[in-house]
Parts: sequence; C-alpha cells; structure tokens
Amino acid sequence: MPPGVNCIYCGGSTSGVRRGEHVIPEALGGTQTLRCVCRSCNTAFSVLDKELCSRSPLSIVVQQELGTKTGMHWDYNEEYDIALEARILRGFLAPVLWPQLVLLGPTTLFLFDQEEAESVGLDDYANAFHNLVHRSTEQWLSRRKGIIWERIRRQPDRGRFPPRFFSRHEYADWKRGMTFICRYLDPIEREQIVHAVRRWEPDITRSTTATSLGVLDPETLLSYQQDLILRALVKIGLNLLAYALSPTDVNSTTFPIATKYARWGTAGTPNLQNSGFVTGGTLSESHCPTDAHKFELVYSNQLWRLVAVFFGGRIGTCVHFPGPQITDYVRYEIVAPVKSKDWTVYKSKLHLAPRAIRTLWDDLSVMIPSMPIRHRGSRKRVEQRRRGK
Ligand SMILES: [Zn+2]
Repeated sequence: MPPGVNCIYCGGSTSGVRRGEHVIPEALGGTQTLRCVCRSCNTAFSVLDKELCSRSPLSIVVQQELGTKTGMHWDYNEEYDIALEARILRGFLAPVLWPQLVLLGPTTLFLFDQEEAESVGLDDYANAFHNLVHRSTEQWLSRRKGIIWERIRRQPDRGRFPPRFFSRHEYADWKRGMTFICRYLDPIEREQIVHAVRRWEPDITRSTTATSLGVLDPETLLSYQQDLILRALVKIGLNLLAYALSPTDVNSTTFPIATKYARWGTAGTPNLQNSGFVTGGTLSESHCPTDAHKFELVYSNQLWRLVAVFFGGRIGTCVHFPGPQITDYVRYEIVAPVKSKDWTVYKSKLHLAPRAIRTLWDDLSVMIPSMPIRHRGSRKRVEQRRRGK
C-alpha cells in the first residue's frame, strides 16, 4: 500500500495492513482483498460477515456449495416446541439434526438423525456418542477444556431454547474425537448443565430417544439480525466500488453515510427500503454463471443499488445506499468466480432508471428457487468409513 492511503471506512491509518479486507467475504469463496481498510474496521466487519454467511438464508447455500460447517440452523420440534441444532448438507432439501442432548428440566433427550444412526446401528451410535460426551465432560471438570459455551442472545421466532449439548461432527468424524458446544439462553450455572449431561445414559429403547426431525418434518428456522445483514451488504457494495473504481473515489468523505453505516451501524439512514433478499425472478434474470457470484452496481437518483447474486443464482440480495452526485446513470457488472481471482468488471451507461426489485426476508421457497431435492451421500459415506475400520 502506498503511504498516505487512509481507511476508506474511518479515514484511519492503514499502515501495517497486510492481508486486507475481503471484497466479498472469504466465507463466500471471496479471494480479492482491499488493503485500504484498516485493521480495526476489518475486525469490526467480521461480525457482519458472520451474520451474513453463517446465520442468514445465504448460509444455507454456503453450506451446501462449500461444504462448510459454520452455519447456524435450527430445526423445529413441534412435540416439545423446541428449536434444535440442525445442519444443511449438499443435496439435502431438509435440515438434518446434529446429534445432541437437550436438557428439558429433569429430562435429557437424545436427538439425532435417524438415517445416519440406523446406518451405523442405533446401539453403536448411541454408545459412541455417550463415550464422547463422557470424555468431554470429564475434560471440562478436570481441565476446563472440551466444551465451548455459546450463549444465544436472540431466540428463533418459534421454539423454546433450553440448553443443548451438541457437536458439529458427523459419525464419520467421531473417531478423531470432538469438541462439544453447549448452547444456552440464560446464564445458567454451567456446572449444573455439565452434571446433567454427565449423568445421561443412552436408552435407545425409549421412543423419544430416536427421532428424525430433519427428514420427517423439514423446516428450517433462521435467526439473524436484519440490521447486521444490511450493513454487511452495504459493505460489500462499497468494497466492490473501491475495487472497481479506486480507494480515492470511495471513502468516508465521498460516501460518508454509507461508510459510517457499514462501520458503526449509525449516522444517517441509507435507503434501506426494498433491501434484503431478492426473489426467484430477479435471480433467474441475472444470468449469473454457474460457480460464480455476480454483482450489479447501478447509480441513479443519488443512490447506488447493489444486486448481488450468489452461487450461480441460487440466492441473491439487494441493497441501496447514498453516494456522490453523478450526472449519468452508471452501471457496473462484476462477475466473481467462487474461490478465484479471475474477476471481470464491465462498466456501462444506463439510459433508463433501473427497474424495481422485489425483496423479502423470510420466505425460503421464493428466495431459493433451486434448492436441490433430497439427499444422496451421507449414508454411503458412513458405510465406507466403517469398512475401513
Ligand atoms: Zn478503518
């Protein structure tokens, strides 16, 4: 970075910045970086990236496309009115449960994906899980290791949130051991949870212990904060402009409202109407190449509009933010292949104001028109592992 270039978000010094801010988050397969973002802003943005990439509807596609296990999804159990930790797998239509212990008062429920457990054998599966739970609680009691505590600050709209004890590992991973995560809502005494979990004995003859929610009753609960998602999207828009134009064109002076909003969530209100996830029609009209993200940045009426279409058009977003006065309508089109630096940028002039785009926040069936149907694979993977034992 040449000396004297300040952070485009806060105007602070960028000296010592090596890795830089990802133009689009690394969790989405982004590779291009900007070194004109200071370390402090970059750190602050990781909260936004996490919200967008591991908690929002986009995270479902991320998990399926990139196979990452970072997403936070819940399945819903009507019988107990509880939200349960679930995962989204490539090729699955429905979320699948992570194996977990749910502490419902004096009862400890063991819930897991039935298909996976049956492919192993219910007894073997339950006993192996029990051994790992036992090992991790002993580790916690003696060395304060083996359990990650995660306090949930925002409940899903539906479903109670009792403490649950789970691990993001499929059976195939279990031999390597696992770290358990304990999710809880209230600052409950940790030792009580540990002791309840430690006392648990698997009893697969009880009907409540073998439940396959993900397969039988597909439903995904998402819990994300819209304001953080919008800030993440505004930030991507500013990053893309800084990448396509230059850091001297995009900074805290030329885009004061948008940069402050992305960095602090305050200072004026970008036009957040008609911002959010976009519907299937917009996605198919974008002609986004497979295995790429495509971005359209359009300036009109003192607003920039970013339409982002991710993973070949499986899901998209739209966000508006104010920018400096330009006389013409301007349009940038950026195609960013996933995990590649081979980006293309087209600049053109628009002669008409851009068409309206319909956005919404929570209807997955409309937002994700190409969610693949039913699963292949996990059973096969488990069996192959077992043969190699
Ligand atoms: Zn900064």
